[in-house]
Amino acid sequence: MTYPQLALLIDGAFITRTGAAGIVINPATGETLSEVPHAGPAELDIALAAAGRAFPLWAATAAAERSAIMRSAAALIRERAGAIGRILTMEQGKPLAEAMGEVRVSADIIDWYAEEGRRAYGRIIPARDGLQHRVYPSPVGPAAAFTPWNFPALTPARKIGGALAAGCSLILKAAEETPGTALEFVRAFVDAGLPAGVLNLVFGVPATVSGHLIGSPIIRKVSFTGSTAVGRQLLRLTTQHLQRTTMELGGHAPVIVCADADAEKAAEIAATGKYRNAGQVCISPTRFYVHENLFDRFTDRFVAVAQGLTLGNGLDEGVTMGPLANSRRIEAMDGFVADARDRGATIRTGGARRGNHGNFFEPTVITDLGDDARLMTEEPFGPVAPIVPFRTLDEVIERANSLPYGLAAYAFTQSGRDAAVLGQKLQAGMVGLNTLAVSNPETPFGGVKASGSGSEGGIEGLQAYFDTKLVTQAF
Ligand code: NAD
Repeated sequence: MTYPQLALLIDGAFITRTGAAGIVINPATGETLSEVPHAGPAELDIALAAAGRAFPLWAATAAAERSAIMRSAAALIRERAGAIGRILTMEQGKPLAEAMGEVRVSADIIDWYAEEGRRAYGRIIPARDGLQHRVYPSPVGPAAAFTPWNFPALTPARKIGGALAAGCSLILKAAEETPGTALEFVRAFVDAGLPAGVLNLVFGVPATVSGHLIGSPIIRKVSFTGSTAVGRQLLRLTTQHLQRTTMELGGHAPVIVCADADAEKAAEIAATGKYRNAGQVCISPTRFYVHENLFDRFTDRFVAVAQGLTLGNGLDEGVTMGPLANSRRIEAMDGFVADARDRGATIRTGGARRGNHGNFFEPTVITDLGDDARLMTEEPFGPVAPIVPFRTLDEVIERANSLPYGLAAYAFTQSGRDAAVLGQKLQAGMVGLNTLAVSNPETPFGGVKASGSGSEGGIEGLQAYFDTKLVTQAF
């Protein structure tokens, strides 16, 4: 499949032409891939009405039937993983193998929710005075979801999976930079027989679309993945109609490498994780605190992994790191490197843009910088890694917890005691000990502090689309 003709999906109809459009650019070549139709107020009102009509019908559909449709959609997505993966690489940049892996995991997420939706149990509470109390999970209503460009299949999968399994209808505004993947994703649900209006897909001017959708009383739930700044704006909008929210926002994950860790092995895992998706991952390991005894060994190995990466167009054989998804990220990386340089830091490898077309930035490692450098305090969201030494566990835990972020945190140690202390004391929604694998279909995924609230994934991700309803009956 080549790049598809882009469309909105509203009330079961694919709409290819509207009054306005944007363009989609291939970040590896700078070439225009296509035009993406933008929804204006008229299209958004039709989507709202459709989601409002579809909600009671879908909520009343048997859980087993909802599950069967979702599983069929997941099977189609898996069947089409090669084609969808190519589209994803063309519009987002990550290497094809990574893109296809993302599409397959996204199908796993849909499958997992499809199963879990069949087990959304309520409970009966022992009562007093001849009453009976029954507690029902009750689908919250039509939801609006906003997803970013860094995981164009996976972030929609988490939101579509939770909403549909719980019996909610959904309007998804996927990122305008990566619309092809989202379109192919929702097409699989249409092909699997999902009734019209249950799942709608729109693109547009982000602030206009979110203002219009969240400003409608039809929407009862808002789920957003993106930056903390935009999350704050959307939360403010929800105060009008008091929608429930799930906010998956930015992070700046510390990695603590203790004195007893295997320095080389930790460096390989950490560096491979750091440069995945060119560092544009909200749970990317991004601040490396290495015990002073291991510092040189860890850093040398980390630099070697960075230098061993093959930068290029993600569709080309052998490429292990693609371009940054948009030119804003190049400017941001230049800013981080310039700030570190001004503070006298050492650029151990990389540090600059590569080539004169496409958004390529070299895998970069920086040492000899203080905890107040911008790279240590602001989410980098790119392939630039700062490595700093530490002396004691208490000191490094305090440094790791010093930022407003609290999404993921990681540590490497062979000590059971230190692992337990780190697991308990690191302020993060997800802590990985001797692993970076904290994102799975069946485990809760979410942050604390400025990294957001609520979880996606796991039973928590399904609960996010239920209200709790008590029915008390006298006999
Ligand atoms: P941005 O804050 O402008 O946009 C982030 C995402 O939010 C995009 O998908 C965008 O379409 C959407 N968005 C922006 N304004 C919106 C609005 N008013 N209503 C609804 N959606 C809106 O930033 P950007 O330049 O695209 O990315 C830069 C930063 O965003 C990164 O440094 C990173 O911190 C953050 N980000 C986080 C994630 C994540 O997975 N948590 C993903 C992408 C970007």
